Amino acid sequence: MKKGKKLYEGKAKILYTATEKGTAIQHFKDDATAFNNQKKSVIEGKGILNNRISEHILSNLNQIGIETHLIKRINMREQLVKLVEIIPIEFVVRNIATGSLTKRLGIEDGTVLEKPLLEFCFKNDDLHDPLVAREHICAFGWSDDSELDSISKICFRINDFMQGMFKSVGIKLVDFKVEFGRLNQNGKKKIILADEISPDTCRLWDSSNDKKLDKDRFRKDLGNVIEAYQEVARRLNILHEGTNIKTVEFGKLRSVKNRK
Ligand code: UDP
Repeated sequence: MKKGKKLYEGKAKILYTATEKGTAIQHFKDDATAFNNQKKSVIEGKGILNNRISEHILSNLNQIGIETHLIKRINMREQLVKLVEIIPIEFVVRNIATGSLTKRLGIEDGTVLEKPLLEFCFKNDDLHDPLVAREHICAFGWSDDSELDSISKICFRINDFMQGMFKSVGIKLVDFKVEFGRLNQNGKKKIILADEISPDTCRLWDSSNDKKLDKDRFRKDLGNVIEAYQEVARRLNILHEGTNIKTVEFGKLRSVKNRK
């Protein structure tokens, strides 16, 4: 698989052109940022874990009929994906109140919501991804009612599926963020799930003690960030017991050198 020119570099991923038209290579970096880029670090192995976890979740979603941009994972840090026009909205689904919701509305952290709550944020770093209403999205042409109706349904299906998947391995799905893109297929426009779903974009709490197994460990300086991501992968049965992600990559680098 030949990687072409860089199309876009974000905070945690880079998108490159791929050989086949309409496809791209999504590369997962180890970079971590929080609070709108004010806090930055490199977490060794994070990209490898997010690539694998996101592949696992998106391929499971594909299997239950939720179309995603994922074609296949091509190596430890990269996936071949369908190139889409990203809708500039972050769709946040919440089951338990925490994070910005508690700060914004004074809701007590950990409050279990009676039913899942869907929020829309305008994807704009300069404006700190502000919360917007459906009416703003339509008024400014970022999307329309028909797209939002189908995306909302998909968001709740993703939530149902992921809640079950995580519950079965002793993890509470507190909230998550997803992004969608438009795909032109034979002159017809389709909405598909894009970006990633990983501990960078979800809040995941251990069911037994509410221990955080997600990016909040980085945001709140709780330590053991990579260990938490590894724990999620292990519970999902996609990382063998005893594997250390840092040595996996080192091992691979060594074998490439040895071949020379
Ligand atoms: N989230 C994300 N990217 C963002 C903002 C939020 O992936 O740019 C995820 C975040 O990890 C959490 C959910 O969306 O799982 C809700 O985040 P919240 O609005 O509470 O944001 P925060 O507290 O991080 O400001």
